[in-house]
Amino acid sequence: MLNRHVFRCCAVFVLALTGCIRDEPSRAEFVLGTVCNITLFDQARAQVYRDVFARIREIENHMSVNLPNSDIARINAAAGITPVQVHDDVFYVIERSLYFAGLSGGALDPAVGPLVSLWGIGTDNPRVPSQTEIDSVLPLVNWQNIELDYSARSVFLKQPGMALDLGAIAKGFAADEAAAIIKKAGLKRAIIDLGGDIITSGKKRDRSSWKVGIQDPLDNRGSYIGVVTVGEQGIVTSGVYERYFEAEGERYHHIFSPQRGFPADNDLMSVTIIADNAMDADALSTAVFVLGYEKGRALVDSLDGFQAIFVFRDNNVRITPGTDFVLTSEDYRF
Ligand code: ADP
Ligand code: MG
Repeated sequence: MLNRHVFRCCAVFVLALTGCIRDEPSRAEFVLGTVCNITLFDQARAQVYRDVFARIREIENHMSVNLPNSDIARINAAAGITPVQVHDDVFYVIERSLYFAGLSGGALDPAVGPLVSLWGIGTDNPRVPSQTEIDSVLPLVNWQNIELDYSARSVFLKQPGMALDLGAIAKGFAADEAAAIIKKAGLKRAIIDLGGDIITSGKKRDRSSWKVGIQDPLDNRGSYIGVVTVGEQGIVTSGVYERYFEAEGERYHHIFSPQRGFPADNDLMSVTIIADNAMDADALSTAVFVLGYEKGRALVDSLDGFQAIFVFRDNNVRITPGTDFVLTSEDYRF
C-alpha cells in the first residue's frame, strides 16, 4: 500500500538573525506560494509595505504557471504554435534564466515545466511517474528550444508540449524588486525574506553587518546550523527538505535533474548562495544543487562575486573562500 504525504513547508529555511529584529514590526503575506516576510526598520513605512506587496503580487500574476492568464501560462499554451508578447519583467527573468541555463550546462532549465507537472510536485497528488512517462517528457525539457525575440519582446517555445516554470528564479527577482522599492522610498534598513530567499538592504542601526542563520536541513524551521555575516546581499538556499513527498518509504523533493527526469540525487542536503542580488543567488543555488558538489563548486569558483555554503548528507559543511560563516550547531562539522 502506498503511503503518500505532501509536505509543503514554506520554501527555504533561512532565519534572519539581527539581534534587534524581534522588536521591529514586520509584515507577512502569502504570495508566490510562500510566506513573504518583510521588515522595514524606518518610520513612515505603511505605504512602502503596501507598495512592496503590490509589486510582489504583480510579479506573481505575470509569472505563475498556475494562473491561466499569466504571461507564463500564455507562453505555455502557445508552445509549438506562436510566439507570445510578454511583460518586460517576464522577458528579463526568462533571459536571465537562459543565461544561467547556459552557464550550468542545462542544470538550471526554465523549460522544466513538463517534469514538474508529471510529478505533481506542489499539488495535492504528487506521484512517481513510470520511466516511460519520464522518457516521453524529457525531450521537451530543453532550454535551447526557448526562443526570445528582443525587438518584439516575445517568447516562443519551439516544441508543442513544452512548458516554462520560473519557480527556481522568480522569488529571487521579486526579492530584488522589493529591495529596489524600499531603497527608492528612502528607507535605509530592511530585510526581505520571500520564503527563505533573503535580501538585506542597508546597514544595521549600529552599523554592524547583517547576520543570517542557515537552516538546519534536518531540523524544524528556525533552528540553524550556523550564521553567515553578509553585506547588502542576496542569500538563497535550495535544499531537499523544502518541498517533497514520500512514496513507499522514498522521499522525492522538488528540484529535478533535467537530464534524468528525477529529483536531483547527490550527497548534498542544501546549497546556499550569497550574491549581490537575490535573483542570481536563486538561479545559482538551484543550478549548483542539481550539479552536485564537484561541478557546482567549480561553477561558483569560476564566477566573480558569488559565495557558497554546502551542507552534505553526512553533516559535513563546506564553504567557498571569503564566506564569513560560523558553525554553531554541534551536529555539523567542517
Ligand atoms: P524554492 O523555489 O523552493 O525556493 P528553488 O529555487 O531551488 O527552490 O526552485 C525549485 C523550483 O524550481 C521547483 O519547485 C520547480 O518549480 C523549479 N525547478 C525544479 N527543478 C528545476 C531545474 N532543474 N531547473 C529550473 N527549475 C527547476
Ligand atoms: Mg532557486
